[in-house]
Amino acid sequence: MKAAIFQGIGKPMVVEDRPDPSPGPGEVVIRVGRAGICGSDLHMTSEPGSSIAVGTIMGHEFAGEIVALGKDVTQLKIGDRVAPLPFVGCGHCAACDDGRPHHCPRARIDVVTGFSQYSRVGANDCVVLPPALTDEDGALIEPMAVGLQGVRKAALQVGCRVLVMGAGPIGLACAFWARRLGASRVALMASTRRRERFAQALGATHFIAQGEVDQPAAAVNDALGGPPDVVFEAVGIPGAIGQAMEHVAPRGLVVGLGFTTKPDSYVGTVALMKELRLWFSVVYEKRDFQYTAEVMAAGEHAPRAMITDTVSLDAMPAKFESLRGPTADCKVMVAPWGIG
Ligand SMILES: [Zn+2]
Ligand SMILES: [Zn+2]
Repeated sequence: MKAAIFQGIGKPMVVEDRPDPSPGPGEVVIRVGRAGICGSDLHMTSEPGSSIAVGTIMGHEFAGEIVALGKDVTQLKIGDRVAPLPFVGCGHCAACDDGRPHHCPRARIDVVTGFSQYSRVGANDCVVLPPALTDEDGALIEPMAVGLQGVRKAALQVGCRVLVMGAGPIGLACAFWARRLGASRVALMASTRRRERFAQALGATHFIAQGEVDQPAAAVNDALGGPPDVVFEAVGIPGAIGQAMEHVAPRGLVVGLGFTTKPDSYVGTVALMKELRLWFSVVYEKRDFQYTAEVMAAGEHAPRAMITDTVSLDAMPAKFESLRGPTADCKVMVAPWGIG
């Protein structure tokens, strides 16, 4: 099979031939239909602190068709179209039973290879796509599910005020779910106006370009009619959690979803005097995948608005590098078998 291979920090990936994977016990092999490029892929291939080994095939947001079943797999069949959670858990510990394979002590992510023509995945960790969903939709489930778990943690009160910091796909997913799960007003704040149309498409009611306002806190309060009850931090740079704490209302909640490998700090008295809560949220549970698939299959196509380009595997390394700087792209899809 063809696969995009990580060459090391600062080097573009190279497309090479690799042996086709075969499924281990409890695993299946997927013919990858579409795989999304994620901001965390860009982080992990640029920050020296990351643990990605040279030779790794990345890609954790994907969907496709099952072409091989491992031993003991009875819950899926050849030809099923699925979106997998990109962790292969042991399948029988408490975390796996709870639908959280990323907390399985034996979880593996290295076998999961979305940026290639085939990938192994755990059979227990696959969500079957309803017929209404395309492979593209399936590849959007992963980032949408990240937002869903974050918003679920907030248990929003109907009519509440929400601020989302960051207009990447995770911030956009938070805006989408916040609007559908109780928030009356959802302001999305980003450094520039570049992503405003995506924010509108995903359901944000207000957009604040931080570079255009003198007093961000006043702009947030104006937009929302008061300070936000919940702030979703989806920026992932040092200082962002501290900013979220500044914005949130007293006794409010900050949900941290941003990805950074750098140390961060905040002003203790801000958090203390507001008696605020901070809860981090990484990835999702299997039920977040299932619910996202159900909502999208019921005719909710707004997440598709995030897709700005689809590239072949051969074109992927150059496209991947282009996403490191300022870009008009939002979610880029890779089509390992070609576009069409
Ligand atoms: Zn991702
Ligand atoms: Zn396990």
